[in-house]
Amino acid sequence: MAFVYIGLGSNLGDRKKNIDAAADAIASNPGTIIIKKSTIIETDPVDYLDQPRFLNQVILIETDLTPLDLLRHLQQTETGLGRTRALPKGPRTIDLDILLYDTIVMETRDITIPHPQIKNRIFILKHLVELTPELTDPVSGDAFRTFIK
Ligand code: AMP
Repeated sequence: MAFVYIGLGSNLGDRKKNIDAAADAIASNPGTIIIKKSTIIETDPVDYLDQPRFLNQVILIETDLTPLDLLRHLQQTETGLGRTRALPKGPRTIDLDILLYDTIVMETRDITIPHPQIKNRIFILKHLVELTPELTDPVSGDAFRTFIK
C-alpha cells in the first residue's frame, strides 16, 4: 500500500460537487481509501488567465494501485465527470493530479512524480502542509513548509 497525495481542481459547473464526486470516484476503487481531505479554497487561474476561478483541494489516500494504474483511474474519473480537453490549461470540470506517491521519484512519458507544479503553486504547498505539517520533498529532503514564504 502507498500513501498518495492527489490534487483536485474544478472551474466549470458546480465546482464543489465536481470535487466531491471525484473524491467519491477515487474512493470507489476497491484497493483505495481516503485518509484525509484538506479544506477547499478558491484560487485564481494560472497559465491561461481568461477563465473562471478554481476550487482546489488535496486529498491523502492509501492505495494498492501502481502510479500508472492510479493515473489511468484518475483519467477515467475525469472523463466520467465530463471533462473535455477543448483548450490546454483551459476551463475544466475536474483536474486530478498525482502530487506525491510515497517517496517515489519517477519521470516517464506519461507521468512525473513528484508533480512538477507543486513548488510553483502556493495553494498546493499550503494544502500539503495542512494535511501533513512535516511532509518532505522526496527530491531535496526539505520540508514543504520551508517553501512557503
Ligand atoms: P492535465 O492537462 O493537467 O490533466 O495533464 C494531463 C497529462 O499530464 C496527462 O497526459 C498525464 O499523462 C500527464 N501527467 C504527468 N505527470 C502527471 C501526474 N503526476 N499526475 C497527473 N498527470 C500527469
